[in-house]
Amino acid sequence: MLRVQVLSISVALLFLGACGSTAKSDHFDILIVNGLVYDGSVTPARTIDIGIVGDRIDSMDASADASADLLIDASGLIVVPGFIDPHTHAEDDLFEVPGNTNLNYLTQGVTTVFIGNDGRSIPGGPQNLELMKSQGIGTNVGFYAGHGTIREAVMGLENRAPTDDELDRMREMVRDEMRAGALGLSTGLFYTPGSFSDTAEVIELAKVAAAFGGVYDSHMRDESSYNIGILGSVRELIEIGEKADVPVHAAHLKALGRDVWGQSGDIIALVDAARERGVEVTADQYPWRASGTRFAAALIPAWVRADSTESMFGRLDNPDLHDQIREQMESNLWRRGGAESLLVTGESEWRGMTLADIAEKMNTNPVDAAIEVVRGGNPGIASFNMSPPDINAIAIQDWVMTGSDGSTGHPRKYATFPKAYRDFVTDSSLMSMEQFVHRSSALAADSFSLCDRGYLLDGRKADVAIIDLEKYRPVADFDNPTRLSTGVAHLIVNGVPAIRDGKPTGELPGEVIDRQNLECNQ
Ligand SMILES: [Zn+2]
Repeated sequence: MLRVQVLSISVALLFLGACGSTAKSDHFDILIVNGLVYDGSVTPARTIDIGIVGDRIDSMDASADASADLLIDASGLIVVPGFIDPHTHAEDDLFEVPGNTNLNYLTQGVTTVFIGNDGRSIPGGPQNLELMKSQGIGTNVGFYAGHGTIREAVMGLENRAPTDDELDRMREMVRDEMRAGALGLSTGLFYTPGSFSDTAEVIELAKVAAAFGGVYDSHMRDESSYNIGILGSVRELIEIGEKADVPVHAAHLKALGRDVWGQSGDIIALVDAARERGVEVTADQYPWRASGTRFAAALIPAWVRADSTESMFGRLDNPDLHDQIREQMESNLWRRGGAESLLVTGESEWRGMTLADIAEKMNTNPVDAAIEVVRGGNPGIASFNMSPPDINAIAIQDWVMTGSDGSTGHPRKYATFPKAYRDFVTDSSLMSMEQFVHRSSALAADSFSLCDRGYLLDGRKADVAIIDLEKYRPVADFDNPTRLSTGVAHLIVNGVPAIRDGKPTGELPGEVIDRQNLECNQ
């Protein structure tokens, strides 16, 4: 709670500074006129003109007579804070040319992505941030210290608790990443090796993030009924928040699988009760019935996957374990909706086929077919395992934000934000446009203490999306998961146009966010 007070005082000081020191400019680098402006709060949109100087919003009430180097006429368009995506896997792209443009996010109106989620630190560690800076990036990037990466570096893939010495070394590695500007600690407790850690270990490491004012972000231990269940996982998340005194965030919140359909109400009740007790709990969500994972993680029990890929195959080949493993895989398959509901999306000869198709082709049962596919490279899959009432119930919570969990092969990487807009605002009226904009920008800035972004306000960084709502739509689907979304007319990142008149400019104005050194936090 103290953290929040300190933050709001510093934000207030920032406004005083901005109002006290700047006379109203009559010349801007960029002037956006005639647009309907949603500022990120849930107050009603209004038609005002916005002046940008350098990388900052200089005026939210610019005179239309002012001059500008670049005048953008936003008549008939909406003007919103650039969207913030708190859960991506963009680290797969951002270190290479041309992936570093992050075009699939720019074209959704996203100006900031987080990476290092699910417990996987950015490749090469914090020193690799320099590569992103020197090569340039299209969007801003915030990053997490990944628990799984750190644990593996210290203890390999061992299924046991750390020694005191190992825990100390992990603490030190979290500290290093926090000093380098990490947003906090991310975990993937469903995945190996995160699944080998108990709650106490995670609390100890989350305390390190908390000491730096960071957050805890988790792909929870169980989104379904694999072990402690989705409700047990939400309780664990909240316990970590309480005991480590850290804001906690549930990644891609969902009720996965037919065992737990209908539990969204219980999830929401747990979170609401915790928030009433003062625990800061938030979540993100993508608007698809299908999650994205790999065959092994979806179907093969964690104990079988332990230690290494070779040991997994050793267990799969062990005649003494044959029946036990296949029985558990059968129930995992049932839980996920059967062989028809798993679709291969990753690079593989089976791409585009369901597990049912593959089993038929191999002339075997789905479990043995899945094992064969895992042997052949364990491709990514889409797993159709969510129910629309749960998706909608979670979507409308005021602590839930838009997040893509973008991964290769799933259209969510290219189309999450426009699909959420279509599903929740135009097709269903589940939320107002103001609420959609808020959950896609300001809510993330508030939750992760990005005090200089997320709102269109004097003094904030000039991350601005100017969108033609008629054309703003998802185009990617499971057959064509890499089609760019349409409708973003102009996109400004740190005061530089990354999209103009619907076309990428090729500029790379993104910054690596150094969470420790935000000016507005000083
Ligand atoms: Zn995840």
